Amino acid sequence: MGEMELKKYKGGCHCGSISYLFSAPEITNGLRCNCSICIRKGAVMTAFTVPPEDMNVEVLGDSLSTYQFGSKTAKHHFCNKCGIYTFHEPQSKPGHFRLNVGCIEGVNPLALVVDTFDGASL
Ligand SMILES: [Zn+2]
Repeated sequence: MGEMELKKYKGGCHCGSISYLFSAPEITNGLRCNCSICIRKGAVMTAFTVPPEDMNVEVLGDSLSTYQFGSKTAKHHFCNKCGIYTFHEPQSKPGHFRLNVGCIEGVNPLALVVDTFDGASL
């Protein structure tokens, strides 16, 4: 495979308290997961994770909250003003971000090819 060209994307929560810029390969497909938390969120997520050096997050005040459960390895981040799940740090890759595609400008999560990840069986 050749060198992957990265695109610049921006996104954020609904009320604008959390915004971010990141670089990633063009988003052509998405991912859904059936684990106990993803099945409740129902969000289409990026199929890739973004390393911290390619992600720039801006938060107004204390609007970024984090939910953890079980082994408390994964960090499920959300805006505590508007309630929107913006991104999380997966159990398999702490410090990296998987994003809610619905929060990304210019990308329609309903138009993507969406694969399902069987997180419930892990
Ligand atoms: Zn918000």
